[in-house]
Amino acid sequence: MVDDASQDWDGPVALGGRVWWVGAPLQDDTFQCHTYLIENGADSILIDPGSMINFAAMLRKVEAVVPVAHLRWIICQHPDPDITASLPALDRLISRPDAVVLSHWRSIALLKHYDIKIPLQCIEKMEWQLDLEACPLSFVFTPYLHFPGAFCTFHKKAGILFSSDLFGGFTEEWQLFAQDESYFEAIRPFHEHYMPSQTILFDGLMKLAPLSIRLIAPQHGCIIPEHLVHFMIEQLKLLDCGLFSLAQGNTDIQQLSRLNLLLRKFFKELVFVKAFRAVLETLARLAEDVLPLERLDVYWILDDDQWLLWSQESYYQPRQQLPQADVAALFAQREAQLDWSVRGVYLCVLGQETKPALVLHLHDSESGTVRGLAIFRLLRPVVLTLEEGRMLSRMGEALSVAAMREILYHQLEGERQRYYERSIRDPLTQLYTRFYLRESVTRLFEMQDRDPRTQLSIAMFDLDHFKSVNDTYGHGAGDDVLRALGQILLAETRTLDIPVRLGGEEFVLLMVGSGAQESLDVAERIRLRVEALALPGILAGRRFSISAGVSLRQPRESLETVLERADVALYQAKDGGRNQVRMAVISIGGER
Ligand code: GH3
Ligand code: MG
Ligand code: MG
Repeated sequence: MVDDASQDWDGPVALGGRVWWVGAPLQDDTFQCHTYLIENGADSILIDPGSMINFAAMLRKVEAVVPVAHLRWIICQHPDPDITASLPALDRLISRPDAVVLSHWRSIALLKHYDIKIPLQCIEKMEWQLDLEACPLSFVFTPYLHFPGAFCTFHKKAGILFSSDLFGGFTEEWQLFAQDESYFEAIRPFHEHYMPSQTILFDGLMKLAPLSIRLIAPQHGCIIPEHLVHFMIEQLKLLDCGLFSLAQGNTDIQQLSRLNLLLRKFFKELVFVKAFRAVLETLARLAEDVLPLERLDVYWILDDDQWLLWSQESYYQPRQQLPQADVAALFAQREAQLDWSVRGVYLCVLGQETKPALVLHLHDSESGTVRGLAIFRLLRPVVLTLEEGRMLSRMGEALSVAAMREILYHQLEGERQRYYERSIRDPLTQLYTRFYLRESVTRLFEMQDRDPRTQLSIAMFDLDHFKSVNDTYGHGAGDDVLRALGQILLAETRTLDIPVRLGGEEFVLLMVGSGAQESLDVAERIRLRVEALALPGILAGRRFSISAGVSLRQPRESLETVLERADVALYQAKDGGRNQVRMAVISIGGER
């Protein structure tokens, strides 16, 4: 590598692969502005001819490598004066008829105003390449804010990327080559300025990803040697762009930067984390870094005017509850612009304790109406600048999207639950559902009410210590056990009987035509089958047991009464040491 200290910068600097730096240092200029030459015999290439300030020096260096008459291609990666102001002077020197200026059509629309005789040619029409035998060049489209037609040029054989504004830097001291990783601090403000959006920057960097770049030759700042190429690219991928465009006034840049970081981490969380609970937990944690946060609560008002509250105690489950008067009052004022000029963000004082709070409006993105509030209760008052307010407003928008996603999920889940309740078969065990039991007993009960000789009984089952199965082997294994129990119940029932999963790990068998002893026998058989149950996989070797309570229906009894009696018997079985069947006691007169 070329050592900066040993150079006097009066001559061209070889970068390898017959590529030369032919610029000249500009005094007291933190930008600098580099011109590069690719020596290719009588068809040599000049990249970004540059300014008139150092034109003479540039020309002298070119001529130290090739005569000006050998310049055939002039590439202008964007049309700024520091890159192209010397075009008319070059135009007067170059007389060969096959000379061409290459650029993007957006640049050419501007460059034509130089009114030069060298023809201007669009790189898009050349399929983004200059197909020279010795040094084929490819052009990579990398727009930035101030010039949407900007591109980079890649010299594949030399592994050199002529990067124009990308990888540029602000340097206090003249230095042609970046020395170490600390040079990124010169690149950072330059890119924060020229790349207002991370998307634009990231997109450009991703286009460079497939290239094997040995050296980056930017228009401004320092040339980036091989050992720093990867580092600089990776750092740029993480850069916070757009910060500059936000800071319009006399802003606390540190605070702005912290807020920006919060925003970015929060967005990342939104993208990668699905659970709203986790999003809120992260937000509360991140907000503590920038605000004297006491607690964060989020409210959302559903279509039927129900309020949902995610409170800091448990973001896990939103609670349906009416808000306190101070929050309701805040919501009522949602259309009024409170003491804040940024949409949907304001500072206020809440409740009787007059605690300060920062409030974000959450919008329904379809209708644009305010549907929710994120309330950051603070330990002490804060002052926010307009810029900070704007950032928080962006956060409110993102939080709104997450909240709406959650609401949708909440509604779908409710719907699913309703469908489930109305369905006949339980999807896990294939047994009948509570809904079906209720439907089917109506006729059976009527039959018994008319003819008391009809026998109806219910056995209620509950797995013993089932929670420990879940806790030890996981929910999936727990489900396997429930499925196996479902199989046992199905196998042990006769055509008229109705095996039901009541919910969770509670099951019922409705038996038709069985008396007390027979019903007890069926329940006992099932208990023994469960005792003998051997499951494969991680559950191998684990023993299971079940407790049961059996009750006989008396004429005119409701399903609830019979179930309740079976339940009491079941709990006697549990109290008695589990893994047993108990018969419910019926008191005189049919009541227990
Ligand atoms: P006991 O002997 O007193 O009945 O103890 P237990 O641990 O079985 O009782 P408990 O009622 O406390 O626990 C029931 C457990 O059943 C808790 C719950 O997580 C689990 N459970 C309920 N429904 C399902 C399900 O669909 N799948 C799985 N895997 N577990 C379930
Ligand atoms: Mg149990
Ligand atoms: Mg239970």
